Amino acid sequence: LLGTDGRLAPTIFAEMTALASKTGALNLGQGFPDEDGPRAVLDAAKHAIDHGRNQYGPGRGCQELIDAVVEHQRRFYGIGLGRGDVLVTAGATEALAATMLAYLSPGDEVIVFEPYYDAYAAIVALTGAVLVPVPLVAPDFQPDPDRLQRASTPRTRMIVVNSPHNPTGAVFSEDAMRHILRVAERRDAIIVTDEVYEHLVYDERHVPIASFGAARDRVVSISSAGKTFSVTGWKIGWIMSTPERIAQITAVKQYLTFVNGAPFQPAVAVGLRLPDEHFDTTVQSFARKRDILARGLRRAGFAVHDAMAGYFLLADAAPLGIDDATALARRMPELVGVAGIPLSALARPSRRDLRSTMRFAFCKSDDTLRDAASRLSGLKD
Ligand code: PMP
Ligand code: GLN
Repeated sequence: LLGTDGRLAPTIFAEMTALASKTGALNLGQGFPDEDGPRAVLDAAKHAIDHGRNQYGPGRGCQELIDAVVEHQRRFYGIGLGRGDVLVTAGATEALAATMLAYLSPGDEVIVFEPYYDAYAAIVALTGAVLVPVPLVAPDFQPDPDRLQRASTPRTRMIVVNSPHNPTGAVFSEDAMRHILRVAERRDAIIVTDEVYEHLVYDERHVPIASFGAARDRVVSISSAGKTFSVTGWKIGWIMSTPERIAQITAVKQYLTFVNGAPFQPAVAVGLRLPDEHFDTTVQSFARKRDILARGLRRAGFAVHDAMAGYFLLADAAPLGIDDATALARRMPELVGVAGIPLSALARPSRRDLRSTMRFAFCKSDDTLRDAASRLSGLKD
């Protein structure tokens, strides 16, 4: 995370997007769609801007969105929330930051499953707590009960559960979830869930860990509109927990952003209330994109891992005779006109098993994906 000057450096996503723009490469690095979300959601934001929703809103979020989150949790997962159980945030990122700042002190340990979304390590570092990575390994990248057990100590204060998982596309099994819950109970730790890919699970349905019968106040659940409605730039997220925890986390949020995204909040409420057909067709369309890119990457010579969910495919460049994906990622835009993320950027250097693997985003138009795959075939030459 740190640059040579010892300060936080630009993230791998910022670095690769800058390189893609400089070289004019197709950007399969940073995960953002190249098609905007549903018309009704976009129109609702315009309507809100035109009808006076442009000033600071209520501290916990606008009532329409809080109500829509409550309805959504009941409709999709059968989870019963009250209005006091929800806080709207500036994306899942602020939700994670406010939650970690609310509960972590220097020396506390936070278990994350590795590879991990880079913000977890950075925010944990900002609180002075200690990151304790538990490796997920190929081919299925499921949490291993023994490794988790060994990683937990009396200082374990928090376990971060990101399922569906970025970057592996794994969906944690029910057994794995139950084991995580038992470890959290034994250590009296908080479970923070990051469920931003909840509506992009391809062959089954998402089951939130909050529905597995844990004590309600042990779980802080986080999601966001960016991926579900293809509006990553809006940065509208939300946290669900008990009113006591929501109050503690809101107290921190006040000093991070105070409030955020006034006209986008009612628009996301419209999104969460869209008929099932919207959610079904979106997931089908992303599954098709995943398959187009997977076929293309295999043809280009990569060993591709199956992705059960999310925006990304992991592709090992070892069969191409390439063992350093970080070096490859820096040269690829110039070399073949495609940008991707080296998986090592989302893990510790000790994870040598991830060294030759790239992460490619498939949340792009079908034509872009086909074009990228055919350009990547050039790596064989
Ligand atoms: N968590 C994961 C796993 C992500 O992939 C991302 C990127 N969308 C985020 C959190 C951040 O979400 P947001 O843009 O809503 O802050
Ligand atoms: N979540 C997206 C990804 O994993 C965007 C990350 C970012 O730009 N910070 O690529």
